[in-house]
Amino acid sequence: MLPPYHGNRRISTGNHDSEFSSSTERIDISHEDAINLWNMATGYFSPCDSFHDYNETMEILQNNHLEDGTAWTVPLLLPISNKSWDRMKNGHILSLYFENRCIAHAEIREKFSLDMDFYLKRLFGTSDMNHPGVKRSMGRGNHFISCKILSFNRKNFMRNHGCMDTESVRNLWKKMGFETICAFQTRNAPHRGHEFLHKVAMLMFDGIAITPSLGPKKDDDLDDSLITMAYETYMKSYLNPQRSFFIPVNYSMLYAGPREAFHHMIMRKNMGFTHFIIGRDHAGTGSYYGRDEAIRFVRSLGEKYIEGVYMEESFYCKRCREITTEKLCPHDDIFRKRFSGSLIRNMIRNGEHFDPDIMREEVFQTLLNLSAIREEMA
Ligand SMILES: [Zn+2]
Repeated sequence: MLPPYHGNRRISTGNHDSEFSSSTERIDISHEDAINLWNMATGYFSPCDSFHDYNETMEILQNNHLEDGTAWTVPLLLPISNKSWDRMKNGHILSLYFENRCIAHAEIREKFSLDMDFYLKRLFGTSDMNHPGVKRSMGRGNHFISCKILSFNRKNFMRNHGCMDTESVRNLWKKMGFETICAFQTRNAPHRGHEFLHKVAMLMFDGIAITPSLGPKKDDDLDDSLITMAYETYMKSYLNPQRSFFIPVNYSMLYAGPREAFHHMIMRKNMGFTHFIIGRDHAGTGSYYGRDEAIRFVRSLGEKYIEGVYMEESFYCKRCREITTEKLCPHDDIFRKRFSGSLIRNMIRNGEHFDPDIMREEVFQTLLNLSAIREEMA
């Protein structure tokens, strides 16, 4: 059975916007904030239909739940410039613009500031400016407004990457008659270690979906079109199309490790998944989070309707002549080839040292061709 919406409340905000056209104040918001709005309006952030206020933010940061007790780990904050701050009053209706289009209307509930050091240390576990999420947060200032979304104009949000709303995803599972469906989150092109995970999950569950996070990322992550094209090639060549799906999620990565792992999982719960693969350094960066810390944290929150699935690290073993793991392979470490991020990146970016044990040749060629086309156009 599909899980209920998180907090037993589905949020879906209508498409209309004409009735607010007068007496509103315009503010221009960032891509990240526009994505948060999209996720609120289309059910991914259910039960949240507002950018959080001060008390809710504190409750989330200190106790990992909303004020009503629903587990929640990442505050949804709308920063506002110093210039707009003075003008804003509770009860005002805002027109939220992104790329010069009005995408939403919202009613201001509260203006507040945060102790950024506290916020960063709770959310990211660090206030180190070398952490990409910390650096981006610091660039957003410390003035915020809480506001309830009154309307969202899906047509005017031009960067939705063809993402479906949560109800459409749920309808797909109903149509397929699946009881158990597992989501895999990614921000990279598929290597053979990923393929191994997908196939193990396909053996365990009725269906799987690759649910890449498409949206702003740190500079050394792969960009959205490369991820999408690489997956298209890979899935067409190697996965059973009756059991595997590609369902992108509009999302701006935070790199907040364990807290973000839970956040990703709740978004998948709202999409109707029953299981979610948690990576060994899920939503992590550098060495800020401990090995397996994400899965321990997620399990500690005791979510009932979607289960975090953890699979150990895989590698290619030259003696087994296949992708395998510590649990399965009896051979010595010298026979093992591991999937390091930098190895894959160098292979893709510089076209060097292609290795069919690490990546499928079709995927590699797709990435190479796309990169070449881009260079020609640049
Ligand atoms: Zn082996």
